[in-house]
Amino acid sequence: MKVRTEEYSYFGLQLLDRRLPEMHELKELIRSKMHLAMAGIHGEFRVDEVFHKYSFPFEYVVLHDVSLESYGKFQIDTVFLTQHFAVVLESKNIGGKLSFKENPYQLERENEEGKVDVFESPEIQIERNIYLLDEWMKQRSVTIPIYGVIVLTNFKVRVIEPPTKYNAILHQTIPVYLRKIPLEKQCMSSNDMHALSKEIVTSHKPYFPYPMCSRWGIHPNDLHTGVCCEKCGVFGIEKKKNGWNCKRCGHVDRLAHEKAIREWFVLIGKTIKNRQCKKFLHLDTSQSACRILNSMNLVKSGNGKNTIYTWKWK
Ligand SMILES: [Zn+2]
Repeated sequence: MKVRTEEYSYFGLQLLDRRLPEMHELKELIRSKMHLAMAGIHGEFRVDEVFHKYSFPFEYVVLHDVSLESYGKFQIDTVFLTQHFAVVLESKNIGGKLSFKENPYQLERENEEGKVDVFESPEIQIERNIYLLDEWMKQRSVTIPIYGVIVLTNFKVRVIEPPTKYNAILHQTIPVYLRKIPLEKQCMSSNDMHALSKEIVTSHKPYFPYPMCSRWGIHPNDLHTGVCCEKCGVFGIEKKKNGWNCKRCGHVDRLAHEKAIREWFVLIGKTIKNRQCKKFLHLDTSQSACRILNSMNLVKSGNGKNTIYTWKWK
């Protein structure tokens, strides 16, 4: 089981929300992005379920969360691969009344209260993904028709203006849609298809949307600092002999510093120095910062005060 890209994004937004003060101008935006990411995870889960329940009367492979690179990096929610064709499935867990607009392409959603939100056009996302996947295949001497479909995974969705470039279907009807695609020319053998799907898996480059601060244009100084109590959420818990102690709720955590260092890399920077660690974790001495940084299996470069530590995202 591999972690979905959406989950990295949700995790980052969750940590960012926790350290972003209530009064911050981007608080509401970050919260709504966090809920959207959570909805995305649920939606993709519904698509996964459909593929677990149904099978098809021909050979095929289902690949979830594919991140590849050809003329550019691209990420596809689900790829359905057969010997005859491939399908790019883009899932959208957005409830309410949807209008797929053109000129410019965007997706409008009207919620129950009549409020309208605008999202990136799934049609444009699919078009780009098909183009880049086609190039990726061609670089491996594979020519195969690639179809695209928008999968609506929210139970409370109503389409007012349907898309024109691609079909939009409900997740329950994925099997019906896929069975209707004609099996015309066979483009590859069964072995080739399995080899290709293996190559897609090994070429998968997980995308880490970190650090979150630079991604969302938030100044790191805006965030709460200090080690967080995982039990009550207060910042600035104290390091004592028995571990990190929360004054508010009495929780003791021996490894709270490790979580805080990880948060630094998710939220603030690709690297950390001793003095940054000391400040972020509210440590009294450079020695304790040094001990913590050296205990964490980080990549080290430079010497003494100027040592730079880097996290290895896999
Ligand atoms: Zn606490």
